[in-house]
Amino acid sequence: MITLALSKGRIFEETLPLLAAAGIQVLEDPDSSRKLILPTNQDAVRVVLVRATDVPTYVEYGGADLGVVGRDVLIEHGGAGLYQPLDLRIATCRMSVAVRDDFDYENAVRQGSRIRVATKYTGIARQHFADKGVHVDLIKLYGSMELAPLTGLADAIVDLVSTGSTLKANRLVEVERIMDISSRLVVNQAALKLKRDALKPLIDAIASAVPSSD
Ligand code: ATP
Ligand code: MG
Repeated sequence: MITLALSKGRIFEETLPLLAAAGIQVLEDPDSSRKLILPTNQDAVRVVLVRATDVPTYVEYGGADLGVVGRDVLIEHGGAGLYQPLDLRIATCRMSVAVRDDFDYENAVRQGSRIRVATKYTGIARQHFADKGVHVDLIKLYGSMELAPLTGLADAIVDLVSTGSTLKANRLVEVERIMDISSRLVVNQAALKLKRDALKPLIDAIASAVPSSD
C-alpha cells in the first residue's frame, strides 16, 4: 500500500491532474465526504487528508509514504528526514511583508526602529529580518494575519500573497517580497528504499506531468 498525504483545498485540487497523469483517480470528494482516508482507482494507493502543516510530519514519521506540501510549510518544518524530489509548480504564490497603507515601512527600516511583525511563519520572518539587519518583535499567529496591523497588534505581517486582493480589501500594501512559493513532493526516505518498485514509477509519472518552467 502507498499512502499519499494531501491537504484539502488548493493543494488537493491542483494535485489531482498530476495524479491523473500517473493513472490515479481519487474516488471520493473531500468536500462532500467526511472520510479522512480516500480510496483511489488503484487498490494499492490511498490518499490521507491532513492539515497542510501536518503533511511533513506524516511523511517524516511514515504515517504517509509521500505528500504534497507548500515550500512555506516545508521551510518552517525544516525538512529533516524528507526526500524532496520535485517542485510540482502548483499552489504558487509568494511570501511577502505587508503593512497598513499609512505605515511608512521604508522609513521605519531606515530609522532602525523596532518593528512588530505578526505571522504564522516565524522561522521565515526571523531569517528574513535578520538578513536585513532589521530588529523585529515577532508575534506568532495561526490565521487572519491581515487583522493584526488593523487592530494595532503589529506594524507589519509576513504572509502569503497571490493576487493581493485580500491585502487590498484590508487596506494593506505589500512592501517586500521574501520568496516565491510553490508546492513540492516530499517522500519518506525509508519508504523510498523499501517500496522503491512502486514509488519510483509514481514519482516519475508525476514528474513528467509537471509543466515546464517556461
Ligand atoms: P488551514 O486552512 O487548514 O488553516 P492553511 O491555511 O495552511 O491551513 P491553505 O490555505 O489551504 O492551508 O494553504 C495550503 C498551502 O497552499 C500553503 O501552505 C501555501 O503553500 C499554499 N497557499 C496558501 N495560500 C495561497 C494562495 N493565496 N495562493 C496560492 N497558494 C497558496
Ligand atoms: Mg487557509
